[in-house]
Amino acid sequence: SVVEDAPALTDGFQLVIDALKLNDIHNLYVVPGIPISDLLRMAQAEGMRVVSFRHEQNAGNAAAIAGFMTKKPGVCMTVSAPGFLNGLTALANATTNCFPMILISGSSEREIVDLQQGDYEEMDQLAIAKPLCKAAFRILHAQDIGIGVARAIRAAVSGRPGGVYLDLPAKLFSQVMDAAEGAKSLVKVVDPTPAQYPSTEAVDRALDLLKGAKRPLVIFGKGAAYAQADETIRSFVEKSGIPFLQMSMAKGLLPDTHPQSAGAARSLVLQEADVVMLVGARLNWLLSHGKGKTWGKPGSKKFIQIDIEPKEMDSNVEIHAPLVGDIASVMEVLLKGIEGSPLTPPTDWMATVAARREQNIAKMAPKLMSNASPMNFHGALGALRRVIKERPDALLVNEGANTLDLARGIIDMYEPRKRLDVGTWGVMGVGMGYAVAAAIESGKPVLAVEGDSAFGFSGMEVETICRYNLPVCIVIFNNNGIYRGTDVNPTGGADPSPMVFVPDSRYDKMMEAFGGVGVHVTNPDELYRAVSEAMDSGRPTLINAVIDPAAGTESGNIGSLNPTSSVRKM
Ligand code: ADP
Ligand code: MG
Repeated sequence: SVVEDAPALTDGFQLVIDALKLNDIHNLYVVPGIPISDLLRMAQAEGMRVVSFRHEQNAGNAAAIAGFMTKKPGVCMTVSAPGFLNGLTALANATTNCFPMILISGSSEREIVDLQQGDYEEMDQLAIAKPLCKAAFRILHAQDIGIGVARAIRAAVSGRPGGVYLDLPAKLFSQVMDAAEGAKSLVKVVDPTPAQYPSTEAVDRALDLLKGAKRPLVIFGKGAAYAQADETIRSFVEKSGIPFLQMSMAKGLLPDTHPQSAGAARSLVLQEADVVMLVGARLNWLLSHGKGKTWGKPGSKKFIQIDIEPKEMDSNVEIHAPLVGDIASVMEVLLKGIEGSPLTPPTDWMATVAARREQNIAKMAPKLMSNASPMNFHGALGALRRVIKERPDALLVNEGANTLDLARGIIDMYEPRKRLDVGTWGVMGVGMGYAVAAAIESGKPVLAVEGDSAFGFSGMEVETICRYNLPVCIVIFNNNGIYRGTDVNPTGGADPSPMVFVPDSRYDKMMEAFGGVGVHVTNPDELYRAVSEAMDSGRPTLINAVIDPAAGTESGNIGSLNPTSSVRKM
């Protein structure tokens, strides 16, 4: 018949879906609308997991953290102009954190946008995205979808990972082509993250430094967690006997309770170490730029740095032994090096570090046992610490000021890539996006520990969590405000201080509105029981944990970053 003889056709919608699936991308984090709604319907019909959010920034954050967790690009899809801009914040954040992510946005008609004739949601999205991400591409023809998606994937995961923008004008989706030709045009990316080994000279230079060290230290950053070289890293640490620090999102790469962990002796090791090996950690503000009083006597240290990005070397201080390569390969070579010619374990130094660690842990312990009501941060976090200890495979999402800084120090992590937090920018608003993706990508229960302010940036996604029935337990540390809940309007006027919220809010009722479980708790025992129950049941739960409004310090640990004037003192 005529129908059978007609050549089979495919279209832009189908080719985008086929190109992603061919490259093992099966989850999409999205906000629907013109021109991508049908694309999302079709993607779901074709078996993809399409997770639909209430705001693009949260969908984008979900994609970004999916990238960190899986080493594959997380994909976010948005509508044009405003939806694109909302997603762009997450793309920039992903790029800053070196998470592989692809933001795919629909866009309006090129002919009209480029002549600025006023199209629906007119915006030159490609130009705007470019400075905020690693790479940006636009696909105009259906036959280029295969190569365009392949480029985006390779750009996101190769070298230093980051965010990639892919612009898909509305007209692309409806373009039709021969199905067989279309299938042939698809590209499965070959070897997207090629192994990259440093030269023998570079390896020997680093090993010589380690051999000569009296007080060596290894610092693992989230790049080391991302690299998924967990066993090699553990062997290197244990064979070398060197103490280690783990940056926030690297916590759990080795258990925080590991005998060589210097986590609770951080200031001591940063000051005293003579050779510091950085593994996937940048010497940015989070490490005081590698200088200043945090780092002890000027010139007292030599640095080894392992990073895939050559430009990272010497960014703040001289790197004496740069090792440019991917962490899995470099650590494998270093491990072989010390197996062939063992280092003398720095036993005395390790003992000094351990003594300081035990002393600091003992100092902290009683504070964590406080069952005071209203709760302070330590009492509440002491309860959550137990919850994670009992469930080491759970994911922990964490944002806030005091809520973040104190949780990072108090809640021990036991497994790699389980702690997801505000990252390099120290940004608020990642919480619910990260929590959703953490549950979707891992299938494990998620505990999101949120300051009341931080939660507000993405709080509407509790509906998403309920809609997909995700095993997410949100704990809001509710101290009525930003940093504290005690600020007042100095004029005595009716407006509250910009730093406070409605006092004694019941965030738990938000969860109940969408069919989840809401719990209101006022002491650490209640908190422990409620969180344990939520983590075991897997039901979407929000626990409103009442914290003393006077607890907490301005900006948490980073109050010194606030500008102060000698003329005016608040
Ligand atoms: P942290 O904030 O935990 O200190 P950073 O984000 O500052 O971590 O540093 C992560 C570093 O890891 C980046 O410089 C990035 O280039 C690097 N990196 C990421 N993945 C890899 C990898 N597979 N191999 C080598 N380096 C990597
Ligand atoms: Mg608060």
